[in-house]
Amino acid sequence: MEPQRSPLLEVRGNIELKKPLIKAPSRLPLPGTRFKRGPDQMEDALEPEKKRTRGLDTVTKIATSQSRAPAITARTQTQNQITAPKVPKKTGPRCSTAIAMVLKNQKSGPAVPAQKPGAAPPMVGGRKPTKRPAWDLKGQLCDLNAELKCCRERTQTLAQENQQLQDQLREAQQQAKARGAECRTLEGELARVQAQAEQGQQELGSLRARVLELEEQQCTQEGLLRELQKEQLGLQEERRGLAARLEEQERRLQASEAALSGSQAEVASLRQEATGQAALLVEQGERLHGLEMERRRLHNQLQELKGNIRVFCRVRPVLPGEPTPPPSFLLFPSGPGGPADPPTRLSVSRCDERRGTLSGAPAPATRHDFSFDRVFPPGSRQDEVFEEIAMLVQSALDGYPVCIFAYGQTGSGKTFTMEGGPGRDPQVEGLIPRALRHLFSVAQELGGQGWTYSFVASYVEIYNETVRDLLATGPRKGQGGECEIRRAGPGSEELTVTNARYVPVSCEKEVEALLHLAHQNRAVARTSQNERSSRSHSVFQLQISGEHTGRGLQCGASLNLVDLAGSERLDPSLALGPGERDRLRETQAINSSLSTLGLVIMALSNKESHIPYRNSKLTYLLQNSLGGSAKMLMFVNISPLEENVSESLNSLRFASKVQLPPGPGPVRTPGCL
Ligand code: ADP
Ligand code: MG
Repeated sequence: MEPQRSPLLEVRGNIELKKPLIKAPSRLPLPGTRFKRGPDQMEDALEPEKKRTRGLDTVTKIATSQSRAPAITARTQTQNQITAPKVPKKTGPRCSTAIAMVLKNQKSGPAVPAQKPGAAPPMVGGRKPTKRPAWDLKGQLCDLNAELKCCRERTQTLAQENQQLQDQLREAQQQAKARGAECRTLEGELARVQAQAEQGQQELGSLRARVLELEEQQCTQEGLLRELQKEQLGLQEERRGLAARLEEQERRLQASEAALSGSQAEVASLRQEATGQAALLVEQGERLHGLEMERRRLHNQLQELKGNIRVFCRVRPVLPGEPTPPPSFLLFPSGPGGPADPPTRLSVSRCDERRGTLSGAPAPATRHDFSFDRVFPPGSRQDEVFEEIAMLVQSALDGYPVCIFAYGQTGSGKTFTMEGGPGRDPQVEGLIPRALRHLFSVAQELGGQGWTYSFVASYVEIYNETVRDLLATGPRKGQGGECEIRRAGPGSEELTVTNARYVPVSCEKEVEALLHLAHQNRAVARTSQNERSSRSHSVFQLQISGEHTGRGLQCGASLNLVDLAGSERLDPSLALGPGERDRLRETQAINSSLSTLGLVIMALSNKESHIPYRNSKLTYLLQNSLGGSAKMLMFVNISPLEENVSESLNSLRFASKVQLPPGPGPVRTPGCL
């Protein structure tokens, strides 16, 4: 784009162009040159002019005067272009007047005098008149006078001219001065204009840059504008869609409002109904609570009718690799209700080898019949067994202490019954995980009736009358215990095992982890003492606490699941080496504690005044869960093998002794309810 020229620059350009006009060398005395000279110098400069004027003819003089005027006029025109009002325009006409006067003077100069007698001879063809003869003195005098007159006139004319020139000179000098001042003003102005022009240039530069920048911005803005316009179109479209939707929504809203007002009326009636229902609910709650209390009472009554001390017999199956016993070895006679009834009797046949040897005939078999609360033949599944004890677990939740023992010789299936079989097969899960799962689920159900339950588990082992924590972790893991059974506080009936971990549990996974930890602890101990697990009692205790905050009720009980040590006796015919002596001591301790358990149970059955709890660590630890309203169940585990018949009979006899004949007894209500 061609930059627009500043008007100031144009002025400057014009001035520059005009300068040579002022300084141009001229034969004529130009005003510019005269300004630089003083008045004297001007006089000198005019001197030859005067001389010329005096000496030359008037035509030359006129020509000089005429040539000066255009120069002044040119200068005046230049000045007029810059500062027209300052320059007087009189110069031209005045000069013309002066020239006119000179011409007039010259015209009125002396003409050739008329030829009078005695006067000068006339001129012929412009040439000098012929010379008067010497005698014509009069004529000569006359000529001289004429010449003198002519000279005087001329002198006068010249004086006038001189006067005029001096006037002109003064005028010119004044003009020169004025022009000088004007010139200085113009120069100052020029400098200022130049400065302004430079500034203008700079501004122009920056403005150009700014223009470029703005143009760029404009481009960007235009792009943006286009995008925005596009977006606007999209938004307008969207707006139209939204407006349509809004309309639709408004229509729906109106419909909803209509429905709402209908619903509000309905709500009001429903509220009324709800109030009635709430009252009914409270009433139902009351009834439910009463029913729950009644259920607990009846449940307990039922359990007590079944017997607070019950004995179940379980015969394990023959394991792979074991000799199959004769079919008549163990018999499970049907009850009075026929085969549909769950078995409660067991018949063990034993050959009396001594009698057979004496007579020489095959040894006759002696049958030993036993009757229990329930008998589980070898094919019984774990869930069938649990079904029978689930009612007892419910009793524990209702606030009655429960003890479940597994009694029998080593290898008869005690641990299988309590903890379960190997692996994680849910089919072979034992009583402990099943009982806890049942507890958690029933506790959750009771939560709906306002009951809150919490459970704390512990697992200890009693070996040789010492207590060891099976839930020990860290450095204490697998170590012998410094655990002692103590009262929880002075005057407290509650017992606690010092140094043992009591772990709150709330789900099956946590119980699983505890059983796994106990298993690990037993495995560590087994490396130092052979098969210690079968020579010790494992006691899993679960403290159950229930609370009904709404009614200010509380209940607490413990569920004890005990895997007893193997009940087998040492063969007295065996020689007693140093190892066997230890084994004998171990066995004596086990037998002592097992017989104490039997004695305690019998004393409780007979309601004796003294119960020998203190005679063993096991009965001492379990004393709060054995007497009173406590429920006790003993599993007597039996090996199906004929070779174990002696131990099996011992176990069955022990179990028969502790079994209380079922019948109505005193029905007690738990203290908490
Ligand atoms: P104990 O604890 O009385 O010494 P275990 O429970 O260890 O006996 O059982 C000994 C073996 O017999 C284990 O291999 C166990 O898996 C198996 N066993 C016990 N009872 C059963 C049963 N009811 N069904 C299948 N296997 C059983
Ligand atoms: Mg075992």
